[in-house]
Amino acid sequence: MLTREQWVERAGGLRHPAGVFLGGDFVPVAGSLPVFSPRDGRLVAEVGVAGESEVDSAVTAARAAFPRWSGLAPRARAACLFRLAELIEREAESLALLISVEMGKPISDALGVEVPAVARTFRWYAELAGKEPGEVADTDASALALVTRRPAGVVAAVTPWNFPLTMAAWKLAPALAAGNTVLLKPAEQSPLSALRLAGLVAEAGFPDGVVSVLNGPGPLTGAALGLHPGVDVLTFTGSTAVGREFLRHAAGSNLKRVWLELGGKSPNLIFADAPDLDAAADAAAWSIFFNAGQMCTAGSRLLVQRPVAERVLARIQARAADFAPGDPLDPATRMGPLISAWQQGRVRAHVAQAVSEGAELRLGGAPVETGLRGPYFAPTVLTGVRPEQRIAREEVFGPVLSVLVFDTEEEAVRLANDSDYGLAAAVWTGDLGVAHRVSRRLRAGTVWVNCYEEGDESVPFGGIGLSGHGRDKSRHALEKFTDLTTTWISLP
Ligand code: NAD
Repeated sequence: MLTREQWVERAGGLRHPAGVFLGGDFVPVAGSLPVFSPRDGRLVAEVGVAGESEVDSAVTAARAAFPRWSGLAPRARAACLFRLAELIEREAESLALLISVEMGKPISDALGVEVPAVARTFRWYAELAGKEPGEVADTDASALALVTRRPAGVVAAVTPWNFPLTMAAWKLAPALAAGNTVLLKPAEQSPLSALRLAGLVAEAGFPDGVVSVLNGPGPLTGAALGLHPGVDVLTFTGSTAVGREFLRHAAGSNLKRVWLELGGKSPNLIFADAPDLDAAADAAAWSIFFNAGQMCTAGSRLLVQRPVAERVLARIQARAADFAPGDPLDPATRMGPLISAWQQGRVRAHVAQAVSEGAELRLGGAPVETGLRGPYFAPTVLTGVRPEQRIAREEVFGPVLSVLVFDTEEEAVRLANDSDYGLAAAVWTGDLGVAHRVSRRLRAGTVWVNCYEEGDESVPFGGIGLSGHGRDKSRHALEKFTDLTTTWISLP
């Protein structure tokens, strides 16, 4: 691992392509968008903006490329995806550095967690290409009915900044493996890693027009994709408010299919009989402080059984020291800044309101001075939170843990399910009956038992309720980007 000084020196030497990646090349555009690093507030780049005319050109290029790409043998598509995975591994350091600079993720997490997951995702779907054979239906002898999966066409992927390349890979890899062409719109805060990915797509040998990367503000570039009649599927990860926008765009245009991976307010239930209370508390701390709490699956609501509440809280407070905010380019840092000063103010206001409504501030609750002038925020723990409080209901997207104490299993399930979201939940218990009963009753796309944030490419990920619908990852993601077609052949 490089030292902080070496990473900082490399960050100073970063160069970014001009324009947007469209039709297989970087093309110049009129508009530009400043990119500020949350590490120190410095302007690090000006990137091109795709307006309506560039979106239109990219859709035209994607439609033109679709027959060739979808008509290739799956192994030929897989070869491009495998090459891309290799290039991502080759460029791991520069991709990690771009992520760290543009959105403040600690370099050790960008390099050790995010970039390897991105390469794995492309490789996993490369291996899956062509492994979903069709069916011959069980009709009577007068017909042969073939049921096949066909790629949907042109897919637009609109992604957030908190895992800039992972979210892109979760969309691109299955859509491309299934034979679709793809337009990626990264978040305006994190276009640099996406532009570097575009360069690697070109190097990997994808035919021109199969992938375009269109930077730009959501209300301009994102909306143009949402409204475009030439987009067949729109797959989105981001906030619930913007997810609603895309549903409206689809309703007002061509009824394109919209898949939504949205926010969460995930409950983490620790029962007194958890097999290892220290491990449960450590995971609770990690689940809310990792990535500065800017996680859709953040364990933002800790529900802990009364007899062990103080012990668990003491351990979480001790663990919080490991997440003291610091320079994301220092390999020792485990928590970097929030994405922006605006978000810092929002998180602070959430905490202040919770306290004014009677919650107790056990830890943190304020910005932290690191000497870097970025929006750093202390790991924060609020106790005595009531379920009706805003802090217990809304996604804060910061390192803020709300703690609620329960007495009975029934109460724990009621509190856990008292949410409009349904992305993830966790249960810690040594009782097999409790584990099964509770996990079965929790309303969430993923329920972890005696662990938190476990995952794999082979496992579907997504939510219910205001957390959205549809699943990323696993072979089920292919269902989002394909249509079932029946071919009925008469055999008189
Ligand atoms: P966001 O909704 O503000 O932005 C996400 C994307 O939508 C960006 O590319 C943005 O440019 C675009 N966008 C914004 N406004 C738009 C508009 N009016 N029309 C069209 N596009 C628009 O979200 P964010 O702040 O980037 O990310 C944080 C959110 O993402 C959180 O709510 C988090 O929970 C969620 N998230 C969910 C998952 C998941 O898998 N469920 C994963 C990561 C993040």
